Amino acid sequence: MHAVRFHEHGGLDVLKYEEAPQPQIEANEVLVKVKACALNHLDIWLRQGAGDWKLPLPHIVGSDISGEVAEVGSHVKRVKAGERVLLCPGISCGQCEMCFRGLDSACRSYTLFGVFVDGGYAQYVKSPEVNVLHLPGDLSFDEAAAVPLVFLTAWHMLFTRAQLKPGEDVLVIGAGSGVGSAAIQIAKSAGARVIATAGGDWKLEKAKALGADEVINHRQQSIAEEVRRITGKRGVDVIVEHVGAAVWEECFNSLATYGRLVTCGVTSGGEVKLNVQGLFGRQRAILGSFMGGKGELLEALKLIARRKLRAVIDSTFPLEEAAAAQRKMESREFFGKILLHP
Ligand SMILES: [Zn+2]
Repeated sequence: MHAVRFHEHGGLDVLKYEEAPQPQIEANEVLVKVKACALNHLDIWLRQGAGDWKLPLPHIVGSDISGEVAEVGSHVKRVKAGERVLLCPGISCGQCEMCFRGLDSACRSYTLFGVFVDGGYAQYVKSPEVNVLHLPGDLSFDEAAAVPLVFLTAWHMLFTRAQLKPGEDVLVIGAGSGVGSAAIQIAKSAGARVIATAGGDWKLEKAKALGADEVINHRQQSIAEEVRRITGKRGVDVIVEHVGAAVWEECFNSLATYGRLVTCGVTSGGEVKLNVQGLFGRQRAILGSFMGGKGELLEALKLIARRKLRAVIDSTFPLEEAAAAQRKMESREFFGKILLHP
């Protein structure tokens, strides 16, 4: 099969479009012919070799996958060849305490497609049966690939971690990112007032179209000052954050008393200053969040199927142009998900 792999970590030039062995399935696995694979920042970090993860090399990244079932193992009963499916991105043991509590991403053996197993930058990928979900409603392959990782991440951040309630004020950082565009919609559908930030006016227009009530251009305006103005000096109840150092202080200073800042990423750096007095005195909380559970993805998919939430697609590239697609992601000049078509 054709795949985009890297044999060493590095810049965009280590991505090679080449022949790779087609995955061989076990009895409980499904072979999927990939129709679309969405990019995530994770792909870029893995290619660069960030963190101390020892990836198998050569390696195929890509966590958000939709496609057609090509072949099923002898123990697989729930899906059949030819069916349209998407893959739940997180792979966990399915038999530990955390898995049974629905907290898959806290499983000690948790991984994702494209991390310790090969992902979707390829014509075929293999998956455990439990990760294979039928495409809900009349969702296209592109829409389906644009959903899983960011919707389950945003769902877990807002509901499971920050315990969002109707009527609360939510600040979403980086409206143009996958998580941002999902969080705006989910928070809005839950009855929150949504304030979204982005680094360009064209992105703010799109954020409004997704349901943001108020927008802040974080290149031209102070997030904390604007939040103060919009909320009548009160601050916001929940902040969905995934940028890290560049916006941390502005975010922290935007939190109301009893506000919760929930973070799932550090695209601008992970070392931040913390005013502990402002933390306890105002009874605020800082919450970490990482991915989410399959149950949360299924909840989000119900609303996706009914078109109450929608996949936000920026652009599509043929698989062989994976480097150009990642370059676009690095440029930040996008809104929503960037997809690859094998
Ligand atoms: Zn487990």
